Amino acid sequence: MDSLEFPYSPNIPFNRPFVSGKEIEFIDDACKSGHLSGCGKYTKKCEVWLEDYFGASRALLTHSCTAALEMCALLLNLSEDDEVIMPSYTFVSTANAFKLRNAKIKFVDICPQTLCIDPVRVSEAINSKTRAVIAVNYAGRNPYIYQLAELCHNHSIYLVEDNAQGLGSTYKGRPLGSFGSLSCISFHETKNISSGEGGALIINDPSLVHRAELILEKGTNRSAFNRGEVDKYTWVSLGSSYLPSEINAAFLWAQFHDFGYITRTRTRLWMSYYEFILSHDWSDFVKTPLPPQEGEIINGHIFYLMFAKTTHRDYFNSCMKSQGVHCVFHYVPLHSSPFNLSLGDSCYSLPITDQASSCLTRLPIWIGLDSCWDQIKTAVTISMNAVMSEL
Ligand SMILES: *Cc1c(COP(=O)(O)O)cnc(C)c1O
Repeated sequence: MDSLEFPYSPNIPFNRPFVSGKEIEFIDDACKSGHLSGCGKYTKKCEVWLEDYFGASRALLTHSCTAALEMCALLLNLSEDDEVIMPSYTFVSTANAFKLRNAKIKFVDICPQTLCIDPVRVSEAINSKTRAVIAVNYAGRNPYIYQLAELCHNHSIYLVEDNAQGLGSTYKGRPLGSFGSLSCISFHETKNISSGEGGALIINDPSLVHRAELILEKGTNRSAFNRGEVDKYTWVSLGSSYLPSEINAAFLWAQFHDFGYITRTRTRLWMSYYEFILSHDWSDFVKTPLPPQEGEIINGHIFYLMFAKTTHRDYFNSCMKSQGVHCVFHYVPLHSSPFNLSLGDSCYSLPITDQASSCLTRLPIWIGLDSCWDQIKTAVTISMNAVMSEL
């Protein structure tokens, strides 16, 4: 592949975090306020914003989506006898959070059209030990979320949304992240809205709010103390340190101001990719994601291409790289990972997961990409021609 030669062009990274410029102003204000640890003014502003957006009982800022997922596992009081169902096609934190509580994880396959957990497979995997289904809203989408919510409701088990990628997407008028009893968001620099590192736990089930506050505050009733409800605070529960500092919250607050702009811009870029790919005769070699479905508003988090073969995907990625455009695969499956195999958990056949992992690539998508859009289109065309002429 190194022998390929293309005209020199500047590097186009896969991701470039959006910074509006207002971040510094709010951080400066936080510094002057004299309160820089968690739970200050900017944390409150962000939490109220999220509660309004989701119509949630409570939103709690955390220092990562990983932390929010760990809080979910603590909140569900899982033990060794409990099972949780989740996709293998996901980020490692989805599984780690529940493994840390010694729960048994059952990985199930995804739907080829959405790359989200397949409700049919979920329904087959549910048994008397199942306590929760963890739905990962892949690429910030999940057209089967209503179905999953109903399935969980009928079996009296929890639905938890790993909505790390889904802030800004709605389905039939409801935001992704408002369907589960609990949902988690990431503000990592690779996500649409970011604070470098950051996250939030969205609590839609009011019966979980009280314990979530204890867990967030290191297992103490400090939240009640801060509200003047108790005269001292003490150790009352299992918990840990999950708060972000006010510096992070101030940065995040600036990003919320541009939430509409960020989401609209990414969605427009997503549609440009979609139309560009469809306008060529490449459908025998690559498939695009589904277009937005009826009632679905997407947040433009990921635009991916699914190749027919791994060799085509790898060749495409290296041709793109030679032209300065960085495209990346997604998710080494968890079910066949060294750690999962070391747990003796090896009886899986998840063909759609394996296929997505070996044939999918993600194209750059970030605010400011317009300035290199022509270079990207040229690179994609040259790379697709290279893939097709290899056959
Ligand atoms: C990004 C991501 C996470 C982890 O988010 P952090 O904020 O980095 O902890 C978890 N799950 C999914 C699906 C993600 O995309």
